Amino acid sequence: MDLAKVEALAAAEAKWFRDGRPRSMEATSRAVETMPRGVPVSWMDELYDHPPLWVSHGTGSRFWDLDGHEYVDMYIADMSAFCGHAAAPVVRAVCERVAAGSQFLLPSQDALIVAEALAQRYGMAKWQFTLSATQANTEVVRIARVRTGRQKVVVFDGKYHGHLEPTLGIVEDGRVLPEYTGLPAEITAHLRIVPFNDLDAVERALAPGDVALLLTEPAMTNAGFLLPGPGFHDGLRELTRRHGTLLAIDETHTLVTAHSGLTTEWGLEPDLLTVGKSIAGGVPLGAYGMTDEVAEVLRPPAGGAAVSGIAYDEVATGGTLFANALSMAAARAALTEVLTPEAFINTARLGHQLAAGLRAGIDRAGLPWSVNVHGSHAFYFFSPEPPRDARGARDADDPGLRALIRLFLANRGVWESGWWLGPTVSVAHTSQDVAAYLDAIGEFTQAVA
Ligand code: PMP
Repeated sequence: MDLAKVEALAAAEAKWFRDGRPRSMEATSRAVETMPRGVPVSWMDELYDHPPLWVSHGTGSRFWDLDGHEYVDMYIADMSAFCGHAAAPVVRAVCERVAAGSQFLLPSQDALIVAEALAQRYGMAKWQFTLSATQANTEVVRIARVRTGRQKVVVFDGKYHGHLEPTLGIVEDGRVLPEYTGLPAEITAHLRIVPFNDLDAVERALAPGDVALLLTEPAMTNAGFLLPGPGFHDGLRELTRRHGTLLAIDETHTLVTAHSGLTTEWGLEPDLLTVGKSIAGGVPLGAYGMTDEVAEVLRPPAGGAAVSGIAYDEVATGGTLFANALSMAAARAALTEVLTPEAFINTARLGHQLAAGLRAGIDRAGLPWSVNVHGSHAFYFFSPEPPRDARGARDADDPGLRALIRLFLANRGVWESGWWLGPTVSVAHTSQDVAAYLDAIGEFTQAVA
């Protein structure tokens, strides 16, 4: 890659973004009055080295910003818009449900249908609902602790399972440290972090016999897209069983890559499984499935009704809006009408088109980059071979280059964002959308070759 060309391009693209096509400047300047760092959620500011796009609306595979710029959405809101923007069955279900009341703190019939649909799809017997995948993982950790009578949790380096304290650590020189400020130092006492694809390290982490839960994605999606090596999942299951540790698979992201998740596609046998993001077509919902055996811990408490301030014999789960009628109606529509087997056949086909096009563009430009793909999600690494673990992914990463690609694509009406790049198609994408993306990224690879 020609670094002089990259630098010149970066300056030109930033100028184009800021001056040539001003984006939401009024919103951007007003936001600083009411929002720290000028964005509704402060981390959004870290993500971009330019003012945020303020979105107006979206439909299918596209969205528009406040100034009317149109984007082909290849980020799909970190997989949470996998149903496509404003998917018609979800819109219909949500409108009907809102008009009929959306929150009762009582179960609606849709909750039954959704639990049955999830059980059938992901092969876990019993289901519970939350409002996000973070909360689903939070409850899964608690259930595992109750079930095993142990405290410790093992996760993989480069993981992200949401902002739940038990997993918010990083590993540096073999020591686990809090990942952010605002976390008590003690959280690290209960957390072990090991490299993905390293069964020896997993064995060492489990060997003391004090680990309640090993929480993993089937393929890691938050440090690039890291695929498990042959035998890795078999080894994980064997080791967790041998050491009395429960195994939870987080399919929040990977559920977009296969109709019944990678758990079913790869024949995995977790004790718990979490989902979220796209399963209610953009309406907040998280859920977790359990085996019958694990679900036993949610038995009715012996000690009668809870009163705040008194110790209570029940696992710490729940929330007022969990399983609200709106989330349930949206999930019913999403699962039964949008996330169909046919839809996944199409997204896998487009995923292949994506990966083949990316590889062709990279080859044409002679760049030493590589591509991983599964189903609807592809990822390009700035290294000749896809890494096996997060350390390899970090070594191969180049945040400056990523920022430039994001800007370059945005200037050409393509949105690919996130901490890690890597395009994902939604159920609403077409072959033409993928071709538009490949044209833009192909132009980039040629420009820096
Ligand atoms: N699990 C995984 C694998 C994720 O990537 C994320 C979010 N990126 C979460 C859980 C948490 O999802 P949410 O922020 O919707 O709670």
